[in-house]
Amino acid sequence: MTNFILHNATLHGAPADAVAIANGIITAVGPGVDLLRLATPDTHVIDCAGRVVIPGIVDDHCHLFATAARRRQVDCRPSATPDIPAVIAALRSAATTGDGWLRGYGYDDSPVGLGRHLNRRDLDAASTRRPTRVDHRSGHACVLNSAALAAVGVSRDTADPPGGSIVRDGNGEPTGLLLDMGGWLGERIGEPSDAKNTAYRADLKDLGRQLLSYGITAVTDAGPDNDAQRWQDFTDAVSDCLLPQRVTMMAGVNHLAELQSAGLSYGDSTCDGRLTLGHAKIMLTASSGRLTPNPAELAEIIAAAHAVGYPVAIHAVERDAIVASALALSDHPTPVGHDRIEHCAECPPDVAELVAQSGARAVLNTGFLHYDGERYRRTVPADLLPHLYPAGALAASGVSVELASDAPVVEPNPWAAMAAAITRRTAEGNPLGGAPVPSVAKALRMHTTGNRIAPGCPADLAVVEPNPFTSPPEVLPSVRALTTIVAGRAVYQRDRSRM
Ligand SMILES: [Zn+2]
Repeated sequence: MTNFILHNATLHGAPADAVAIANGIITAVGPGVDLLRLATPDTHVIDCAGRVVIPGIVDDHCHLFATAARRRQVDCRPSATPDIPAVIAALRSAATTGDGWLRGYGYDDSPVGLGRHLNRRDLDAASTRRPTRVDHRSGHACVLNSAALAAVGVSRDTADPPGGSIVRDGNGEPTGLLLDMGGWLGERIGEPSDAKNTAYRADLKDLGRQLLSYGITAVTDAGPDNDAQRWQDFTDAVSDCLLPQRVTMMAGVNHLAELQSAGLSYGDSTCDGRLTLGHAKIMLTASSGRLTPNPAELAEIIAAAHAVGYPVAIHAVERDAIVASALALSDHPTPVGHDRIEHCAECPPDVAELVAQSGARAVLNTGFLHYDGERYRRTVPADLLPHLYPAGALAASGVSVELASDAPVVEPNPWAAMAAAITRRTAEGNPLGGAPVPSVAKALRMHTTGNRIAPGCPADLAVVEPNPFTSPPEVLPSVRALTTIVAGRAVYQRDRSRM
């Protein structure tokens, strides 16, 4: 029986005006006059009034629990707190209500932000009572106040944990700044990801709805520390429909054995196929000035993940990291699925060529160009600007490119990411240079990974407005879904009375 018919629609990629859905699958695409005959009294019929229907958008790299948690944290981005006294004032005011950990996010040490990193003394001025942690906008650094350092046991005698570093002053005392220690801190503080926590459930549900409002029907959580506990958290969140999307959880590469002991391997799924275990996530950074892990270690990590059946997704932002990823993946082609290089931020043509030769997919965050473009224009060397997140250039070199948000680093708005990919302009409209993705249709294909409007395909669709294909590019970031359908169910309707 046909459960759903969308008619009077402008279908993207299909020369027809109606689509019929049964049991979560698109069963027919054709003229509305024909398809409406399939309707029974129980069929849900939507007149799209000529609006565009697109395949469901995929956000293939984001951090769901961290994005949801932002709803209860102090906004320390330059837009909210332009200088250090403003950061302190915002935290001090938040510290007066409540107990336990106080969290802030988004501070920027660059010249267009605070001009330097925060330190424990800054945060002590906000609160000595509550352990306080403020995350850097990159997600790879954070600052703790003295109460927080004591709570997690960081002192001058604490050694740097593997992969992380405790920044110290001239006397060897921790300044409060910790680099790449998110996982280490998570183990000590506990993340508020318990899907049974009422406040947290509300935040996650709110995020799920926000993503649906963009037309996002599938998301991948790229947490480098995702483990068996996190799989359980996602199972709770997906089975309770807090996240109505299809969810893929990448596996932290250091947790593959633990996941295996829990009976989980790559591609396994639960919750009627709505939660799937994805790629092994590897962190590769050059932020400390040298590659961590080094190329020999990276090769070993990749080979070990492949050996237990996982393709890998390598975090590579800096030029050196992208080069090392591409070379390592060329030497170690995956026996399963496809390997991925995440971010590809600093990627001039010679590096793009190596990525193409590696055969890996590139998952880029062109939304950063939209939201952070003005900062890039002031802080990135002019000859590198055109090669930041070069979706158009990589695709022209033959690389299979996907777009993804990396939220919470920026807003998970896929339309902003697509706009920046096709215009190479900041939200303020200033040019960054570089090869654009040539059309909205091509940008959309990069953000809908494999989803299509065709018989036999999963019924993941969105009715959107205004028409993204005919609107001027500056309007693109404001495109929104009226209806979003996941697996044949209308899980989001913005305004029932209008449909
Ligand atoms: Zn990420």
